Amino acid sequence: MVEHGRRDRASGPVRYSAPGGLSSLVTDLATGLAVACGHEVRRVGPGPSVDGGPADAVVLAMPDPQAARLLDPASPTAAQVAGREWTPVVAVAAGWAGREWAPFPAAFVNDHPVLTIVADDGDRRGDGAPVLVAHTTAALARKHAADPAGAVAPVLAALRDLLGVTAAPAWTVAHLWPAASPAQPRDRPFHLGADGVALAGDGWGSPRIETAWRSGTLLARALTRSGPEQLPS
Ligand SMILES: Cc1cc2nc3c(=O)[nH]c(=O)nc-3n(C[C@H](O)[C@H](O)[C@H](O)COP(=O)(O)OP(=O)(O)OC[C@H]3O[C@@H](n4cnc5c(N)ncnc54)[C@H](O)[C@@H]3O)c2cc1C
Repeated sequence: MVEHGRRDRASGPVRYSAPGGLSSLVTDLATGLAVACGHEVRRVGPGPSVDGGPADAVVLAMPDPQAARLLDPASPTAAQVAGREWTPVVAVAAGWAGREWAPFPAAFVNDHPVLTIVADDGDRRGDGAPVLVAHTTAALARKHAADPAGAVAPVLAALRDLLGVTAAPAWTVAHLWPAASPAQPRDRPFHLGADGVALAGDGWGSPRIETAWRSGTLLARALTRSGPEQLPS
């Protein structure tokens, strides 16, 4: 983790970047833990159980629509995620040969038909690379859900209008996030069900990393305080 990015640290917040990628933070925290990756879970039921086998505790830390697909309807926890609306985003990243804009961390774009936020990725990472990452409105993401690359042209046109970026980018990438953020926030930081199945993630508060972190941390404390054998039944 590298501290950088503020020209005036006395008055502004300190910003951080992860040169090895954000997943490097999780890898570091997981040092010494026995973690099995690459296992796609298909069914979570009361007991709790995972894919038919017993588990001490189960935490589904993911958007509600993903958790809903996994949860056995017999689990009382299923009701917690049923029918909750999440909104999509197409994230468009674009890189240029050189900068035509002054560095900025990120900017919300209010009441715009195409964009909700634009981030200066070079400024965020601290290497000054001429790369912008833009998020579309939910309406534009729905329109291009079957072909996210179709969102690139309207996003570039909007960046031209907003930032005066006239050159064609050297490369672009478009990625659809079908469940990017919950339409409505919740007022609890996690759910720990009587069936031993727990829910956490940024759906349990405002949709950002800080919420996901806080949700998972508070749930972990609740689980370890009670101990799996003392989960509510
Ligand atoms: C495009 C985009 C950009 C963002 N940028 C920022 C930002 O700059 N700053 C910020 O604070 N927040 C940002 N956010 C929000 C941030 O990404 C989320 O708050 C955070 O990722 C939520 O973490 P989570 O653990 O709740 O869920 P997720 O990150 O969605 O993790 C859920 C995990 O569950 C796994 N999973 C799902 N189903 C299964 C299954 N059946 N078996 C096994 N694994 C499964 C998924 O593969 C995934 O890894 C951004 C979100 C989006 C969509």
